[in-house]
Amino acid sequence: MSQKEDCIFCQIAKGEMPANIVYQDEIVTAFRDINPVAPSHILIIPNVHIRSANDLSKQFKSEASRMLTVVPKIAIQEGISESGYRLIMNTGPDGNQVVHHAHLHMIGGQKMKHGIG
Ligand code: AMP
Ligand code: ZN
Repeated sequence: MSQKEDCIFCQIAKGEMPANIVYQDEIVTAFRDINPVAPSHILIIPNVHIRSANDLSKQFKSEASRMLTVVPKIAIQEGISESGYRLIMNTGPDGNQVVHHAHLHMIGGQKMKHGIG
């Protein structure tokens, strides 16, 4: 199973659901969060359906690595490379993961609060 019919992030990756896409290649898609918590709030997702960080095993080595290696490129595009940003992957109930298609939040454009709790 590489895609899930009722998954909104699968639909965004396939171009079936509108999104403000800032980067896309054959492995990952990055788009603006619909409810941004900072001036720059991007979600980076694998194009295939991976439920959470718990499933980022060896099988998904290329997805896991690409989700991170596109970060510097997007940071330059967003103009936050020097000012900095925060990367977060909410996972499971305690992580308050709402969308069950793994995604990396990239948040910047403002000074973040100390700590991550
Ligand atoms: P979480 O699973 O807790 O990391 O939260 C899911 C994130 O996805 C939230 O920040 C939402 O604002 C965002 N989100 C949900 N639906 C969409 C969508 N259709 N387009 C862009 N961002 C979305
Ligand atoms: Zn999905």
